[in-house]
Amino acid sequence: MNTEAPIIEVEGVVAHYGQREVLKGIDLAVDDGEIMVIMGGSGSGKSTLLNHLLGLLRPSRGTVRLLGRDINRLPAMELLELRRRMGVAFQSGALFSSLTVAENILLPLREHTDLDEHTMAIIARLKLEVVSLSGFGDLMPAELSGGMVKRAALARAIVMDPKLLFCDEPTAGLDPVVSSSIDQLILRLRDALGMTIVVVTHDLDSAFRIADRICVLEEGRVIAIGSKDEIRSSGSERVQNLLNRRSKEVTLDPDAYLRRLFGEG
Ligand code: ADP
Ligand code: MG
Repeated sequence: MNTEAPIIEVEGVVAHYGQREVLKGIDLAVDDGEIMVIMGGSGSGKSTLLNHLLGLLRPSRGTVRLLGRDINRLPAMELLELRRRMGVAFQSGALFSSLTVAENILLPLREHTDLDEHTMAIIARLKLEVVSLSGFGDLMPAELSGGMVKRAALARAIVMDPKLLFCDEPTAGLDPVVSSSIDQLILRLRDALGMTIVVVTHDLDSAFRIADRICVLEEGRVIAIGSKDEIRSSGSERVQNLLNRRSKEVTLDPDAYLRRLFGEG
């Protein structure tokens, strides 16, 4: 189906926190226009892997290539250039509480472009429309519901029309209806804008709605990777255990997860 080189290539990535090895040789390739979902229990290494894909952490061994370039060997200018082609929607939304929604969305444009105010305002309006937040640009983040915060974070992530979009737990803490609408939005971004998307999630329903392929992590290793059908029919007991853990996931505390993600817990 796809003859081009993978957009993301992870080879033999090993990562440590101090002496402790938390990624134990990860291999992963994501194709152009694909939605790859990274799934796994708490502590399996999902966020650590995501931070390596973003170049925020450096592997102790192995390589991460994005758009054909080794992100740990790029000169600073080229890394900046590459970052412009990547959008990230963090789990918390990470919106600035003192800025309006529209101002939050404009931040990457202010940082990376010389566009005039009028043009930026038009782009912000268009992106708000894409995520179904038309008319909400003048609100403050505190005035938004959980689902709207996730949408606004997605709008900011796509404001530079990135080739690559990364989403950390885009549906965590949302009710099923809102989760489903976020999933539809992610699918639309891929279909309409041709993005390649990596989603880290605990949410099995969401994973199986959006994924082209699913990568299952356990204790820092990829224990399965394949299409939804391949994962569903996996003969691996460990994969089946993960798929059957649905009821436990519902009780997971997203705030505790967040505190851990930002190292405050
Ligand atoms: P997940 O996102 O799948 O829950 P993480 O990537 O956050 O998993 O964590 C993988 C392992 O690394 C866990 O055992 C976690 O406790 C540990 N870990 C995560 N972040 C740090 C850190 N900053 N310092 C030390 N250990 C960490
Ligand atoms: Mg995590």
